[in-house]
Amino acid sequence: MRSSDVHASAVEVPAVHASDADTATATATATERSDLRGSDVLVIGGGIIGLVTAWRAARRGLRTAVVDPDPGGGAARVAAGMLAAVTELHYGEETLLGLNLASAARYPAFVAELEESTGHDVGYRACGTLAVALDADDRSHLRELHALQTRCGLTSEWLSGRECRRLEPMLAPGVRGGLRVDGDHQVDPRRLAAALLLACRRAGVVFHHSLAQSLTVVRDRARGAVLAGGEELTADQVVLAAGSLSGRLAGVPDEVLPPVRPVKGQVLRLRVPAPYAPFLSRTVRAVVRGSHVYLVPRENGELVVGATSEELGWDTTVTAGGVYELLRDAHELVPGLTELPLTETLAGLRPASPDNAPLLGPTALPGLHLATGHYRNGVLLTPLTGDVMAEVLTTGVLPDEARPFTPRRFSPTSPVRQEQPA
Ligand SMILES: Cc1cc2nc3c(=O)[nH]c(=O)nc-3n(C[C@H](O)[C@H](O)[C@H](O)COP(=O)(O)OP(=O)(O)OC[C@H]3O[C@@H](n4cnc5c(N)ncnc54)[C@H](O)[C@@H]3O)c2cc1C
Repeated sequence: MRSSDVHASAVEVPAVHASDADTATATATATERSDLRGSDVLVIGGGIIGLVTAWRAARRGLRTAVVDPDPGGGAARVAAGMLAAVTELHYGEETLLGLNLASAARYPAFVAELEESTGHDVGYRACGTLAVALDADDRSHLRELHALQTRCGLTSEWLSGRECRRLEPMLAPGVRGGLRVDGDHQVDPRRLAAALLLACRRAGVVFHHSLAQSLTVVRDRARGAVLAGGEELTADQVVLAAGSLSGRLAGVPDEVLPPVRPVKGQVLRLRVPAPYAPFLSRTVRAVVRGSHVYLVPRENGELVVGATSEELGWDTTVTAGGVYELLRDAHELVPGLTELPLTETLAGLRPASPDNAPLLGPTALPGLHLATGHYRNGVLLTPLTGDVMAEVLTTGVLPDEARPFTPRRFSPTSPVRQEQPA
């Protein structure tokens, strides 16, 4: 397996069979490495955030490389893909709300451009969301959320239990009321990641299938990275987009190291057989005894049930307790769910920051940018992140909408106000 790979329409490496590959690949790889070891932008991390950054930067004419042992993997393999600016609103996160809404507004055009560039359907569904309450406590929680949404000028409609069941007949008879939010949609994060990977390749992004071991700093400026195999890559600008591992890259000075931590989430995937379809027509979610549960129905018959939220470091074990909790709560919400085949259980890590908001743009170390800390909204924030990072990489100016999310807000002397954690 090569550690570097070039995928540009202009320098596409011809397909070769395994039997005659060695010589041809070795020659091509050596050429690619010597030509392309240096770039304008080196993105460390090829999850959806690193990929969208690379795609957008390459489209602006920057020679861009991505280093990741498994590009297109990461948390997007696990994520449900809710684009839930309104139903994910929490107290103290009003500034983040503005960013989330701005990204949600960009989604239709972003998807159209990505699908046109790749020919891939990313499973974007403008289906809306229904947040429901099962008991009096849940109902008062939802009433408070509704009041907060109204104060923030958002559109959501209070429905009785009967009205909820009219919209979604599979809901439990005990549903006591709910909020209809027609603006919270969904996308399939796996398809999104695959399309971004292809879009990057078509835009000429160079991939290095390796871990970055350390950041290279020369005369107080980020200059590239050293890969796990010892290979050195140079770049004028480096973007650290390594998800929940962003705070662990060697060589990054302590004062600019992002305060990002992993928050584990377990999800289940079920399949809705044809006779049961459509099982649900929109995303259905609830808080059941204090735990969030959601069911996201995809057009292809997949039903994603999520998600636990666990502060357990880098552990990604799927546990009996996690699966039980999700099935128990989802079953209370939609009893017919137990008839469906369970096809997959998975756990992933959300990259969380101290104020639950992303870190975007330049750090105090010249040449080093961050695009990380997207926590539970990384899929939603993908279009906006790509635009913001491409703008800052090409012009050096952080767009206005991203200024509250500068990594510098975590420096002790920062004048930027921090929001309270939810
Ligand atoms: C259970 C769950 C449900 C979610 N549901 C939603 C949802 O409904 N809606 C939503 O908007 N968001 C959701 N999210 C959040 C979203 O998935 C994440 O915010 C987003 O995927 C983060 O993307 P990322 O590229 O920043 O990080 P990651 O996906 O973690 O990618 C980081 C990449 O960096 C690479 N990497 C790490 N270290 C190095 C290194 N040293 N060198 C090279 N590469 C490195 C990794 O291999 C990885 O590919 C969910 C997340 C989880 C876990």
